[in-house]
Amino acid sequence: MTPPSRKALVPFVSVADMMRLVHHIGLEKVLIDLAAEIEGDFLRWELFDKTPRVASHSDVGVIELMPTSDGEHYGFKYVNGHPSNTRSGLQTVTAFGLLADVATGYPILLTEMTLLTALRTAAMSALAAKHLAPKGATTMAMIGNGAQSEFQCTAFKAVCGIDTVRLYDIDPAATEKCAANLAGSGLKVVPCKSGEEAMEGAQIITTCTADKQYATILTDNMVGPGVHINAIGGDCPGKTELHRDILLRSDIFVEYPPQTRIEGEIQQLDEDHPVTELWQVMSGKAKGRTGDRQITLFDSVGFAIEDFSALYYVHKAIVGTPYFVQLDMLADPDDPRDLFGMLQRAS
Ligand code: NAD
Repeated sequence: MTPPSRKALVPFVSVADMMRLVHHIGLEKVLIDLAAEIEGDFLRWELFDKTPRVASHSDVGVIELMPTSDGEHYGFKYVNGHPSNTRSGLQTVTAFGLLADVATGYPILLTEMTLLTALRTAAMSALAAKHLAPKGATTMAMIGNGAQSEFQCTAFKAVCGIDTVRLYDIDPAATEKCAANLAGSGLKVVPCKSGEEAMEGAQIITTCTADKQYATILTDNMVGPGVHINAIGGDCPGKTELHRDILLRSDIFVEYPPQTRIEGEIQQLDEDHPVTELWQVMSGKAKGRTGDRQITLFDSVGFAIEDFSALYYVHKAIVGTPYFVQLDMLADPDDPRDLFGMLQRAS
């Protein structure tokens, strides 16, 4: 059998290689670099093909495809969200993704994206907070201490200079796990017994809980003036975390309105309720935080451009490293029109 020529091999980054890559570069540096990569792409926002993600819902969860292209590269992510998975030892969110060259249509990277999604979501949250949170913020309440939580805390330390995190989860075992994982991170970690306690003295509040329903993780009376809320758990139709009254008191910032109106906290509001697109804040076209008493809310759902940025970052980062294998996943006959002959010769 003829060995495949190298031009058709596709670099594949496994979970094990992604972990090696992150340790090789350094977790905080990866988060800082990813935030910069995303910001760079948000500054080119108008260049990208944009569409709300393609979602397939079931009673227990959702499976989604998230495509985008900047004209030179095309990327997509496959991602699921199944809140009940953890009860059977499976994760709520898993993902993989692909980057392709638009000129040929050939894939140039296939990678695990479960870890990469946690990294890019954390980088995106911290990037939004860099533009919206009160200056000099030191303390974050982290409500929901599951798979995403330590990534969020670390990104806010690396990108925004947070030095204290106050943790709360309805499951004390999750808080214990999060606190143990963050020991030695340089963050002061304060486990709390309620959401209210976690929010004491916090200038930034991150909600990252998983429940396939309209939940009220934060009620209106819990949220004082001047804070920044980073709401990432409400990211599906029928799934929110904040009481509607908080939204009415907040200035709301979103990734891509057509997707966020379907999936985000703002699905609770009228369709024409004003929101600001984050890329416009980053490019100076719109205002971010304008006052000390203003409540800013990043209604995060996760958008395809963030995954594109993460894919492109990994594509560059693996060059010259051993942290990938070459996959024989594209048929590559010597005569491009002789696909059948290639099959016959392999018998
Ligand atoms: P996870 O299941 O690992 O953790 C969720 C945690 O929330 C659990 O520990 C659970 O006990 C806790 N929780 C549930 N209800 C709570 C409540 N009322 N108060 C306090 N804690 C509560 O899930 P994960 O992977 O950390 O993801 C969390 C959420 O973030 C999911 O809904 C996921 O879809 C979403 N997410 C969003 C983005 C984005 O870009 N916006 C990206 C990744 C994940």
